[in-house]
Amino acid sequence: IIELKNVGKSFDDVVVVEDFNLEVKKGEFVTFLGPSGCGKTTTLRMIAGFEIPTEGQITLKGEDISKLPPYERPINTVFQRYALFPHLNIYDNIAFGLKLKTNEVTYKKDNGKIITRKEKLSKKEIDKKVKRALEIVDLEGFEKRSVDTLSGGQQQRIAIARAIVNEPQILLLDEPLGALDLKMRKEMQIELKAMHERLGITFIYVTHDQEEALTMSDKIVVMSDGVIQQIGTPEEIYNEPKNAFVADFIGESN
Ligand code: ATP
Repeated sequence: IIELKNVGKSFDDVVVVEDFNLEVKKGEFVTFLGPSGCGKTTTLRMIAGFEIPTEGQITLKGEDISKLPPYERPINTVFQRYALFPHLNIYDNIAFGLKLKTNEVTYKKDNGKIITRKEKLSKKEIDKKVKRALEIVDLEGFEKRSVDTLSGGQQQRIAIARAIVNEPQILLLDEPLGALDLKMRKEMQIELKAMHERLGITFIYVTHDQEEALTMSDKIVVMSDGVIQQIGTPEEIYNEPKNAFVADFIGESN
């Protein structure tokens, strides 16, 4: 569904991502794994459109999207800090983007002429989408709650609900469990995996936690110093590390 071809990024003269080549299939769970500062977030930000690559190309279903602004890409991001609006209730947090969204609606007039115009989603449609998103993250009935009455894990699930409510083709998750305690992190790993299966959309996930990557991913991209060291299934990465860096990094415990 998405392909990065020879993608590179430099800030001034400092190269932070170099010659990054990756093909992600529809519905895959792909994880960027590597130590702090290796360029995982920068790569994710280029996919989201928050950064423009200085080299190479990013294509979505064959179309070059390298220079498209984030809001024109069918891609949403969940960040480590949930970034919910504290003054809005859960319903309004999730519905925020939907209220701005328009659909093209086609009418046939009495004289047979066909006209198309943009219309905002109706309250009923928004209600239905919010309800469905809350079901997916297993927080049915939370519409009226305020953000400060939720636990960290629940807030992160709301952030995920907000990111999936407008049905993106790809969901990017940047250390989404990084702010949670160990117990909650383990629970959320299982839930995220289940959500991925239920939704059937493509997940690109960033973590520095080897175990998290190994348990959740279909495919892992191991990075260091802005360069891909190995791409493979968790089994391949674990059993057949391609070089000393991968072997050492996978072998380390957190
Ligand atoms: P972490 O897990 O700590 O977030 P990371 O692997 O995601 O690390 P990046 O955040 O992509 O790494 O950063 C890679 C390198 O790029 C770092 O050395 C960082 O300082 C640098 N960098 C990132 N953004 C900028 C920027 N806007 N200007 C200059 N340097 C930047």
